Amino acid sequence: MRKGMSAMINLAEELKGVRTVAIAGHVRPDGDAIGSCLGLYHYLKKNYPEIEAKVYLEQIPDAYRIIAGVDEVICQTGAETEADLFFCLDCADEKRLGDFAVLCKKARRTVCIDHHISNGGFADENYIVPDASSTSELVFGVLEEEKIPYESAEALYMGIVHDTGVFRHSCTSPETMEIAARLMKKGIDGSKIINRTYYDKTYHQNQILGRALLESILLMDKKIIFSAIRQKEMDFYGVTPSDLDGIVQILMSTSGTEVAIFLYETEPQTFKVSLRSREIVDVSVVAAYFGGGGHVRAAGCTMQGSIYDVVNNITLHIEEQLRQENSCD
Ligand code: AMP
Ligand code: MN
Ligand code: MN
Repeated sequence: MRKGMSAMINLAEELKGVRTVAIAGHVRPDGDAIGSCLGLYHYLKKNYPEIEAKVYLEQIPDAYRIIAGVDEVICQTGAETEADLFFCLDCADEKRLGDFAVLCKKARRTVCIDHHISNGGFADENYIVPDASSTSELVFGVLEEEKIPYESAEALYMGIVHDTGVFRHSCTSPETMEIAARLMKKGIDGSKIINRTYYDKTYHQNQILGRALLESILLMDKKIIFSAIRQKEMDFYGVTPSDLDGIVQILMSTSGTEVAIFLYETEPQTFKVSLRSREIVDVSVVAAYFGGGGHVRAAGCTMQGSIYDVVNNITLHIEEQLRQENSCD
């Protein structure tokens, strides 16, 4: 059993007598939130046609349009919120469901499948494995492999690809590679999924990336790389927050750095903060201190103040962790 593993979900048991299922993931859904939700959705549609299943996610970026079922995703909650069973996927707490938290509150039973270290287990049934590469990997584990349809395989593979940075981050385990291989055996086009949903960028996305790189600065003896995008710059390039996905990862590829900090302005004096680390700093602790969360090597939060306030506050916490590490040497 893997470290931090909570009880595995028995999906067939959970679905006994269930007529309606709602599935949702975190706000500003990423590849894993989308992949895990659609992976489960297609599986239910194929194997449990008597169940009415619906997926709820905030607006999905265009790059994900090649994944089957994206058009069926419901972007706003309506009147029908009382599902027999609610699946909360890739979401560390109820607040991160945004408007869809109502589904969790009103459902007869709730099941959470997640890999965020900051997840305290808020559902009736919680399957949380911080060591897992992705929620998509965990969803694969609760499905019967021979019953996984092609559409689920595509979605789950995509989720794993995104959260592992294409099998590159340290969360990529031998199990991750095995699961990816088993999904590939369903006949999916892995290369197309990787290129179209992960690497391909629009001209404007690349322009804003260029701007973020050009204006990045090194702090703390070059251990930290930092960059920020203001609202007026986003307006100038005609981009929205989802167009900035991936910038923090590229900042992190600057050799010699331990932490990458990327901010973008959501409202005046309010910034969405993305943190990445290489080997030493636990950024989930830093993000949690400021009311956010995530993983040891990738975390996020929202902070108020000027860019300088935000950076100063975060770097103090990073400095503290690096100092403790040095004193242990
Ligand atoms: P981001 O930099 O926003 O892509 O986030 C990196 C990782 O941290 C992702 O796995 C997010 O789901 C997670 N994360 C970001 N913001 C929060 C938050 N406020 N609370 C919990 N987890 C978060
Ligand atoms: Mn996610
Ligand atoms: Mn995830």
